[in-house]
Amino acid sequence: MDKVLSYLTLNTRQFHELSLRARVVLSQLPLSMTVLLILAGGLLFHPDLFESQAFLVGVGLQALLLAVCVLVPWDRLPYASFLVIPLLDFIPIGFMRHGAGTIITGVGLLAVFPVIWLAASGLFPRAALAAGFLASLGIVWVPVFVTDDAITSQSLTQSVLLPFIMFAIGMTIRVMTASMMAQQEVVETKDRALQALLEESARRERLLDTVVNSVDIGLIALDETGRQVLANRKLEQFKAIAGGTRETAEADLQVFQQDGRSPLPEVRRPTRRAAEGQVFSDYLLWWGERPNQRVLSTSSRLLLNQSGAREGSVVTFNDVTELVTALNAKDEFVATVSHELRTPLTAIRGYLELLTSMPDLEPDVASGLEVVSRNSERLHKLVVDLLSTAEGSPEISVRPTDFSALVTERVSAAQERNTNPLVRFEVHAEPDLVAMADAPRVSQVLDNLLSNAVKYSPGGGRVSVHAAEVDGEVECSVTDEGSGMSAEELRGVFSKFFRTSAARNAAIPGVGLGLALSKAIVERHGGTITCRSVEGQGSTFTFRLPLAHADQQQLQPQEP
Ligand code: ADP
Repeated sequence: MDKVLSYLTLNTRQFHELSLRARVVLSQLPLSMTVLLILAGGLLFHPDLFESQAFLVGVGLQALLLAVCVLVPWDRLPYASFLVIPLLDFIPIGFMRHGAGTIITGVGLLAVFPVIWLAASGLFPRAALAAGFLASLGIVWVPVFVTDDAITSQSLTQSVLLPFIMFAIGMTIRVMTASMMAQQEVVETKDRALQALLEESARRERLLDTVVNSVDIGLIALDETGRQVLANRKLEQFKAIAGGTRETAEADLQVFQQDGRSPLPEVRRPTRRAAEGQVFSDYLLWWGERPNQRVLSTSSRLLLNQSGAREGSVVTFNDVTELVTALNAKDEFVATVSHELRTPLTAIRGYLELLTSMPDLEPDVASGLEVVSRNSERLHKLVVDLLSTAEGSPEISVRPTDFSALVTERVSAAQERNTNPLVRFEVHAEPDLVAMADAPRVSQVLDNLLSNAVKYSPGGGRVSVHAAEVDGEVECSVTDEGSGMSAEELRGVFSKFFRTSAARNAAIPGVGLGLALSKAIVERHGGTITCRSVEGQGSTFTFRLPLAHADQQQLQPQEP
C-alpha cells in the first residue's frame, strides 16, 4: 500500500516494484478519475446528461472495468492478459462519447488513456498502435453505422481526426517508451554486471580472509601512508609473544637484536622499514623475552598499482626458532670439535718446527717432513677457519687503515705464494685510500679472494685487483679469468660449506668456509660483498668498506 501511495505522489521510481495487479489498477485510475470528473461536472452543470442511456451504460461499464482491474489476480494470469483492459476501455468511451453527444464535447478524447496504456506497455508495439487507431475509429464510426441516421460522407469524416490524433499520440508514446526501455535495459545490464562484480569481490575477500588466516606465517599489509590495512591471526599470536595485543603498535613490542637482549631501535623494525618503502628478505628478529623468545624471519615486498607506483607493502613474519637453534647447535659442535683439534695440532706443528730445524737431516726425511709440515699448515688453516665461522660474528676492532698499501701488500704476498706460472697479477689501487677497518681481518678477506682467484683459474689468466673510492666508500674488486660459476651456484657462494661441483670434481683443496667468513668479516665492518660470475669466463668479487672521515684519517701504526 505504501508503494501505491508513493506512486500516487509521483514517486515513479517505485512503479516497477509494484505487483502487476497494483500496476493495472494504477494504469486504469486516470481514466476512471476523469470519468468521475465528467460525472461531477455533469451533475453540477448538465443534469440532462444523465438522461442519456448510452452515457450511463458507458459509465457503468467503466466502473465494471475498474472493478475487474481490482478483482482479477493478474499476477497469476499470463503476463500480457492485462492488455484486455485498455482494449475494452474503448467500449465505455464509445458509449459515453455517443451519450454525451453535444452536451459535453470532447469525451472521445478519453481514448487517449487506453491508447497511452497500450503504447507504453511495450508489448506487441505494432498491434497495439493498430488497435488504438482502429478502436478510436470505431468510437467515431460505430455510432454512424448503428444509428438510423443516413450514412453520409460528411457524417463519416466529421470526427475522423480523433483516430489520427490517437495514432500520433500512440506513436509518440511508443517511441519514448522504446527509448526508455532501451535505457532501462542498459542500466539493468550494468546493474547486473555490478552485482556480479560485487559478489565476486565479496567471494575473493572471503577467500583472501580464509587463506590469510590459515597460513602459518604472520602477515601485515600497509597502505602507501604506512597505515595497517590488514593483519592476520598468526601475527596476533606473535604480538602476544612480544608482550603486545592486537592493537599494540610495533614500536611498543619487545623486539630484540641478535643478542636477544638489546632492544631493536624503532627505525630498524620491519613494519617501519616497510612503511618507508624498503624491500628486504630474511631479516631476523628476536621476539619476546626469554625463555619464550622466538626468532622471526621477516620479509617485505611492495604492492604496486597498475601504473607500477607503490600503493603499499606486505610484511611477512616466519617463525624460524627451530632452524636457528639447530644452526647454533651445529656451530657449537663445529667450534667444540675444532677446539679439540687445535690443541694436538699446535703440539704437532711445534715439534715439526723443531724437527725441520735439526741439522744434517737425510734428504728423504727432510722432504717427508716438508710434506707433513705443508699438510699440518693446511689442517691448521682449516681449524682456524672452522673456529672463526663457528664464532658467527667475528670480533673486529676498526681504525683508520691505509687500504691502498694493504691491497698492494696482500697482492705481493699472493704473488709469492703462487705456484701457477700461467697466472699473472695486476693491481690498480687509487693512492691514499683510508678505510675504517680491522687490517688483519681485511687481509684475511683479501688473501681468501686472491687465493680463490688463483685456485679456480687452473688454466691461468689475469687476476686484477682494483681499489677505489666509490659513493663515499672504499671499494675493492678481485677479478679472475678462471672457471667461473653458473647463476644457480652463484646464489649459494657465500653459504658455509658451499663448493661448486667443478671445484669438487677437480679435487681443488678447500672446504667452502673462506667466503662465508669473508662475508661475515665485511658485514661486521658495516660493508657489503657481492659476486658476479660467468661460467667458463671468470668471476669478480667486490667488497666495500666504510671510508675513514677526514677527522679520522690520522693513520694508526699497524700491529705486526
Ligand atoms: P673453498 O675455496 O675453501 O672451497 P670458499 O668459501 O672460498 O671455499 O669458496 C666456496 C666455493 O665457491 C669454492 O669451493 C668454489 O667452488 C667457489 N668459488 C670461490 N671463488 C671462486 C672463483 N674465484 N672462481 C670460481 N669459483 C669460485
